[in-house]
Amino acid sequence: MDQLSVRINSLPVSATLAMAAKARELKNKGIDIIGLSLGEPDFNTPEFIKDAAIQAVRDNYNSYSPVDGYADLKEAICVKFKRDNKITYSPSQIVVSTGAKQSIANLCLVLLDPGDEVLLPAPYWVSYSAIATLAEATSIIIPSSIKTDFKITPEQLEAFMTPKTKLVMFNSPNNPSGSIYTESEYRALGKVLEKYPDVFILSDEIYEHINYGTAHFSIAAIPELYDRTITVNGVAKAFAMTGWRIGYIGAPEWIAKACNKMQGQITSGANCIAQRATIAALEAPVSEIKYMIDEFAERRVMIIKLLRAIPGFKLNEPEGAFYVFPDISYYFGKTLRGKTLDNASDFALFLLEEANVATVTGEAFGNDNCIRISYAASVENIQEAIIRIANAVK
Ligand code: PMP
Repeated sequence: MDQLSVRINSLPVSATLAMAAKARELKNKGIDIIGLSLGEPDFNTPEFIKDAAIQAVRDNYNSYSPVDGYADLKEAICVKFKRDNKITYSPSQIVVSTGAKQSIANLCLVLLDPGDEVLLPAPYWVSYSAIATLAEATSIIIPSSIKTDFKITPEQLEAFMTPKTKLVMFNSPNNPSGSIYTESEYRALGKVLEKYPDVFILSDEIYEHINYGTAHFSIAAIPELYDRTITVNGVAKAFAMTGWRIGYIGAPEWIAKACNKMQGQITSGANCIAQRATIAALEAPVSEIKYMIDEFAERRVMIIKLLRAIPGFKLNEPEGAFYVFPDISYYFGKTLRGKTLDNASDFALFLLEEANVATVTGEAFGNDNCIRISYAASVENIQEAIIRIANAVK
């Protein structure tokens, strides 16, 4: 341990993975655990995407691709950005990476220096702060609560700006809260950002298509912010392609070039077959994946209704993604089944041990009053899990 770098020793262990490991341990003891901690669709990749991958193998796509992605894939991404997001990018502004996670890591590594501050409106995706730490920057959390639908206000954003602020990371639809910033909300936050021309904006839009009716808006569509916004997206969530590992950015060209250089030294580019399959995914009309969104929509209505019926569970109306983020602070200070619950981590552990349901503590997302429950699971499992939770907290 002593011989490991300060870099790796300073990284926290992923709370999501820690929960998965604990759940596995109980499963191995023969306990029937229902896992609602995962962040991935429980669907298979659509056939037309699989067919494109099989064809790519047959067509002998086996060599290194250009580091930043195949030219025709980058073209398809530009068309997608124009079609869905009203953002104009040219292929020289696109970098394809091994998952949106690498896209974000590339960006942080090329943009951040030690001492730079990264603003994280909470709740935020767990990896943002870990990646910022890897880049030796300091994460500054902007809190929110269920009262503001887990969104920050322009006043809050302004109050957290310092001369060291370098990057703000937005994620809408949000993991874990499901909240979506509307166009007018983003424009109001944008007015603050306009006053700070040295601050960059990361807009993580990976849940864009998992949306139950609120119009999606991309910050880069605000002309005043286009030159310092990096739009991140990927195929993992909308196309049920988590394991294919393709993410991408649209960015100012000089930033895209730097990310290209970074990944040229780390991965040499994303997997060639997965890139070919991604062209098929992005060129298809969005209606091709509607059956998955419709299914999530039904489960969403069900899980919200069932959870709201449990005393002490406060829920917002998540508008996107496939998570609910109930505020369970009502239970803090109470003792249930001999266990004192002081925070969200205690509560998540209690649910695992007493209800045999795996969730994730909100602490990992910068909000210690909530837990994240994924409804990317079968209707039967969701129903059974909620019955177990209700019984455990009785
Ligand atoms: N951003 C958010 C908000 C996510 O939830 C995830 C996946 N959990 C990612 C990025 C990473 O996506 P990928 O699998 O493409 O690396």
